Amino acid sequence: AVILGLESSCDDSAAALVTSDRQILAQAVVGQADQHRPFGGVVPEIAARAHVEILPGLVRQVLRDAAIEIGEVDAIAATAGPGLVGGVMVGLLAGKGLSLATGKPLIAVNHLEGHALSPGLTDASLDFPYLLLLASGGHCQLLEVRGVGDYRRLATTIDDAAGEAFDKAAKQLGLGYPGGPAVEQLAGQGDPEAVPLPRPLVGSGEPHFSFAGLKSAVQRAVQSGKYRPADIAASFQAAVVDCFVDRTRIALRKSDAPSLVVAGGVAANASVREALETLAAEEGRAFSVPPGWLCTDNAAMIGWAGAQRLAAGWVDGLDVPARARWPLDEDAEKVRGAGV
Ligand code: ATP
Ligand code: FE
Repeated sequence: AVILGLESSCDDSAAALVTSDRQILAQAVVGQADQHRPFGGVVPEIAARAHVEILPGLVRQVLRDAAIEIGEVDAIAATAGPGLVGGVMVGLLAGKGLSLATGKPLIAVNHLEGHALSPGLTDASLDFPYLLLLASGGHCQLLEVRGVGDYRRLATTIDDAAGEAFDKAAKQLGLGYPGGPAVEQLAGQGDPEAVPLPRPLVGSGEPHFSFAGLKSAVQRAVQSGKYRPADIAASFQAAVVDCFVDRTRIALRKSDAPSLVVAGGVAANASVREALETLAAEEGRAFSVPPGWLCTDNAAMIGWAGAQRLAAGWVDGLDVPARARWPLDEDAEKVRGAGV
């Protein structure tokens, strides 16, 4: 089946055409960073309006690139949350309109499920269950992914998300927005041992995360004037990686999943990828991480999640709501409740 995926939950507008046998026929992402940069972060109202302007052209573009007509698409998968609800509504309503016009089913996709299933789009050898470190702009969780729609959350952050920590560190270092890639680049020129920074919750028995204390420590390091910005960036990145490795090791020891997977925007970071690959080897698990473009927000992962939901027969009515909040494991409750 051919699925049109639509993504509009934050500040990336995206459309993609993917097939249920893992072909990416076409995909396009337009970031809105230039429009939000003057404000130092994403402005919800600007994001929603920008999605209205950008998305229709992206749909036309992917159809043209794949040389198929909208009527040849088998289903339309749109992000229905969680995220900035104005933007979510834009993409979801676009999906509803296309579904109504074509008579093809609508699939309302949880953005986090998009991230969670993304590794399987490019790694056909990855089987369920797997332990997932989901590290993105709004989330930092460890989940057992047991199957499509079947997620068990083992841990989450008690304060900031990992990507948020990168973005705040970038702001403090004057690197602007978006922060993750800029911090990674600057870190490459620094000494990761130059600045003593905390590793919050490392050593604790439950695999939760915390990044707020690290954020304050970075701020103090910047204000002290004692350190080179590159050394602060490198030391910050090393601290985040240490937290990831320690917390994920605890979760792996609580799970018999044969594979470790990392996904979400922070999984685009090379140090994160390397450290978790090493951890997986040490703990005797297989390892999978999507290519960088599939870690940050995109519509191919939404189309791919849609393809798997379609295969399971899970399609949605045109009354499905856009949701600002939508935990992944709540969906698992629904599935179990339905006796699936
Ligand atoms: P969520 O998926 O939780 O709703 P989001 O969609 O805004 O949030 P993603 O697009 O998945 O988040 O990830 C973006 C985050 O990833 C940003 O915080 C960004 O700074 C971070 N990020 C992107 N690339 C890198 C990188 N190379 N190193 C570290 N962080 C990165
Ligand atoms: Fe995301």
